[in-house]
Amino acid sequence: MSPPKTIFKRIIDGEIPAKIVHEDEISLAFHDVSPQAPVHILVIPKKEIRSIAELQTEDAALMGHLFAIVRKIAEEQGLTNGFRTVINTGVDGGQTVPHLHIHLMGKRALGWPPG
Ligand code: 5GP
Repeated sequence: MSPPKTIFKRIIDGEIPAKIVHEDEISLAFHDVSPQAPVHILVIPKKEIRSIAELQTEDAALMGHLFAIVRKIAEEQGLTNGFRTVINTGVDGGQTVPHLHIHLMGKRALGWPPG
């Protein structure tokens, strides 16, 4: 039996709604349901990659594409004062959804270091 779909795979498949800001053949971007900043968008590959820990060399172009989408959305959202990108990985990294995603956060000053 195949494992249950992640919440993000269900968004990709259109089974649950999301506020989508970008979609193409290989990527999807949508507003985080629990935003931690005035702008908080998740950029994900449609390919089911669980995390950075499972990236393959063949995924290099895909990851480059995701960051190009981050740049495009940051511009569209007017994040001219800067922004934060975060990729949580695994338990210690605080990852809660096992489908690779880039958090894009902006429109407020963000602290460092993280908790
Ligand atoms: P992680 O903790 O894995 O780095 O980030 C997962 C993110 O997904 C969290 O910021 C959480 O708010 C967001 N999230 C979880 N479930 C949903 C959902 O059903 N829809 C949307 N749009 N975001 C979600």
